[in-house]
Amino acid sequence: MRFSLLLIWSLLVMLPIRHLSAQAHHTPEGFHNPWPGFEDRGLGDLFKWMIWDRITGKKPDRPDTYHFKVEANDGRFLRKNHTQNTITWIGHSTLLIQLDGLNILTDPIWSERASPVQFMGPKRFTPPGVAFNDLPSIDVVLISHDHYDHLDKNTIQRLGNKPFYLVPLGVGDLLKSWGITHFQELDWWDEITFNHLRFVCTPAQHFSGRTPFDRNLRLWAGWVIQGKDKKIYFGGDSGYFPGFQTIGTRLGPFDLAALPIGAYKPRWFMSAVHMDPAEAVRAYLDLKAKIFVPIHWATFDLADEPLDEPPKLLKKAIHKQQLNADNFWILKVGEMRILHDSIQARANKNFNAKNEGQK
Ligand code: ZN
Ligand code: ZN
Repeated sequence: MRFSLLLIWSLLVMLPIRHLSAQAHHTPEGFHNPWPGFEDRGLGDLFKWMIWDRITGKKPDRPDTYHFKVEANDGRFLRKNHTQNTITWIGHSTLLIQLDGLNILTDPIWSERASPVQFMGPKRFTPPGVAFNDLPSIDVVLISHDHYDHLDKNTIQRLGNKPFYLVPLGVGDLLKSWGITHFQELDWWDEITFNHLRFVCTPAQHFSGRTPFDRNLRLWAGWVIQGKDKKIYFGGDSGYFPGFQTIGTRLGPFDLAALPIGAYKPRWFMSAVHMDPAEAVRAYLDLKAKIFVPIHWATFDLADEPLDEPPKLLKKAIHKQQLNADNFWILKVGEMRILHDSIQARANKNFNAKNEGQK
């Protein structure tokens, strides 16, 4: 009796505390970044960046074309592979991750433009690294947020209802309106197990909206994927924020972190919502990751830096911090790498092999 009273009392006390801390990013006007130091940029700032700076000549002159190396990948290995863990960069934030026999796509976009219409808006500089029809059968699709370069209606409709879509709060309604019903919405720190993989939705510092009327009505996030002996972090768009340390402490260390390194200039406007390459390296260290895979570059022109600048600044940051360059996989579009055993798995294997030998 005394025990159950105590239990009821602690639940009553604990629930509002948990509720408050879990809901700090929910407001009546939509979602927001709840930590101190975050400065929201409004429509006035957007106008200053997109129009005023152009009129007053503050927009930098940049090349019109770039030639990024693309690695030919016809998907043959990927379609046959059910045993090796692999990662393939399709372009922008689209990755094909093969983990423990499941095929996972992140923020899939195969369209020519990251835009609500295909006659205007940011156009691809590089073709998708694997043709859509060459993909293996997709089991899970992870969406980080609703911006056009991450959530592409055409691609989602081509993928159809077979994959299981994991999306941040609010994105499910969009999917439903496109005929997709096989999805689960998650809030920050919510998790779900699908087959034998664990997925955790993690905080990010960004914003959302597809029109002038739906700003911040859908949540933004990053994702953790945990397999048998591999843990991967997929970073959606984010400014550098204290959450990376929290994610590293709560869910790290990671075998691999895919982090955005592009769309960071001008800093006065972009730094709140997009990291520059040096900040992405800080995030990688906070997350306690081993391999770094840069994404969100070389595909769409979304900001003021030259499109080939991000990997140059990334290399500078690696050198400055005296980090092991072998751990930074600056993939070409289309390039696939096999994720070899994690340190822990290798240790277990050696241990088991030794024990086997002693029998
Ligand atoms: Zn975005
Ligand atoms: Zn983006």
